[in-house]
Amino acid sequence: MKHLINSRDFDIQTIEGIFKKAKTFKESGFTNLLKDRLIITIFFENSTRTKSSFEVAAKRLGATVVSLDVSQSSSSKGETLFDTAANLDAMGPDAIVVRHKNAGVPKILSNYVNCPIINGGDGAGAHPTQAILDLFTIKEELGKVKGKKIAIVGDIKNSRVANSNVELLSRFGLEVIMVAPPHFMPKTKNFRQTHDINEIIDEVDIIMSLRTQTERHSNQIYASLKDYAKDFCITKELVKDRNILLLHPGPVHRNIDIDDDMLKDPRCKVLEQVKNGVFTRMAVLEYLING
Ligand code: ASP
Repeated sequence: MKHLINSRDFDIQTIEGIFKKAKTFKESGFTNLLKDRLIITIFFENSTRTKSSFEVAAKRLGATVVSLDVSQSSSSKGETLFDTAANLDAMGPDAIVVRHKNAGVPKILSNYVNCPIINGGDGAGAHPTQAILDLFTIKEELGKVKGKKIAIVGDIKNSRVANSNVELLSRFGLEVIMVAPPHFMPKTKNFRQTHDINEIIDEVDIIMSLRTQTERHSNQIYASLKDYAKDFCITKELVKDRNILLLHPGPVHRNIDIDDDMLKDPRCKVLEQVKNGVFTRMAVLEYLING
């Protein structure tokens, strides 16, 4: 049984296959490849894009989707996560997409069910489908990605999106540069790091801006996010006319992560990422369920 818990779970060949399928889905639209299949989504942590993206993806493949409202589920009545999983599993789903505020939960659940588990984001752990859709978007825009330089900017230390992207993008030969204030910088010696975005702006091909993960901070770090924005907001004044692709997993803190002008700029691919999220998740669901 295959699961998608971390980006590492898919080797390069599998990812290339996912991209090929996603491209076909993007070109040809709806299919019935998962007709009569049942997909359950269970999100213990808030989500706008990821949950709806999985649900749209499943429906575009002809699957039936049951989406558990966690606030009304038995976990709020004290049922353990494992009992919830075992009960869901007893209904015979073909895949379960789970998000949880604690890193490691999807991995543990995968031991209790008889269908693929897809990690829709676990705490500060991993968000594999986000990294897959990000790489798909980069490849679509730039073609060859080996040797390209990407600056990941922001709260890298608390970001599951950063974790999954650092793993996947470096495996595909991109050079990752981490740009963050000291308290948002992870402890690693494996990647180039800087606190000053101006230092790397002339050499990067891509900037991936990240949201400050305030919900994962044990104490307030900035008096106001405006202090952070002074140094790390991606503005038109910073980017100028450079040939840089701008990405963000959303939700964007406007004028904190990226300013209004850059959000409107054609180099900013945030909505294209959302679009590609559906096609790449269609390909992931189809691969894990149909093989
Ligand atoms: N949507 C992404 C996530 O779920 C990024 C974020 O929330 O900042 O991790």
